Amino acid sequence: MVSQPDCLFCTLVAEGDHVNEADGFVAIEDINPKAPVHLLVLPKRHVDTFRDVGEFPADETKRMLEFVADTARRAGLEDYQVIVNVGRGAGQTVFHLHWHVLGGGSQFE
Ligand code: 5GP
Ligand code: ZN
Repeated sequence: MVSQPDCLFCTLVAEGDHVNEADGFVAIEDINPKAPVHLLVLPKRHVDTFRDVGEFPADETKRMLEFVADTARRAGLEDYQVIVNVGRGAGQTVFHLHWHVLGGGSQFE
């Protein structure tokens, strides 16, 4: 499914306030940052969690990872963390796959 009704991140993907954008992906600032730089990479294609990453075509998966790295580079980060919370028990609160990019020392240590 490309977009899911009532999904917060599908809505944010459709809005314009992106710090980075490419074909199929956007990056936004986290509304409640856990590090000096805290960005979220959102694929435009809706999948609920990382468990479903196999729903992405192989080339899209590769471009998604490159987009995560590009987002960090454009934010001026050389050293950073990339975190995906998978499932409620691991802290996932929004069920649209997203990659946390944290720089400058995070609280996820
Ligand atoms: P999760 O806990 O699912 O791994 O991450 C969800 C993230 O989305 C959290 O870090 C939270 O601060 C962020 N978030 C929740 N609602 C919004 C919102 O409306 N806008 C933005 N930019 N981030 C949000
Ligand atoms: Zn969604």
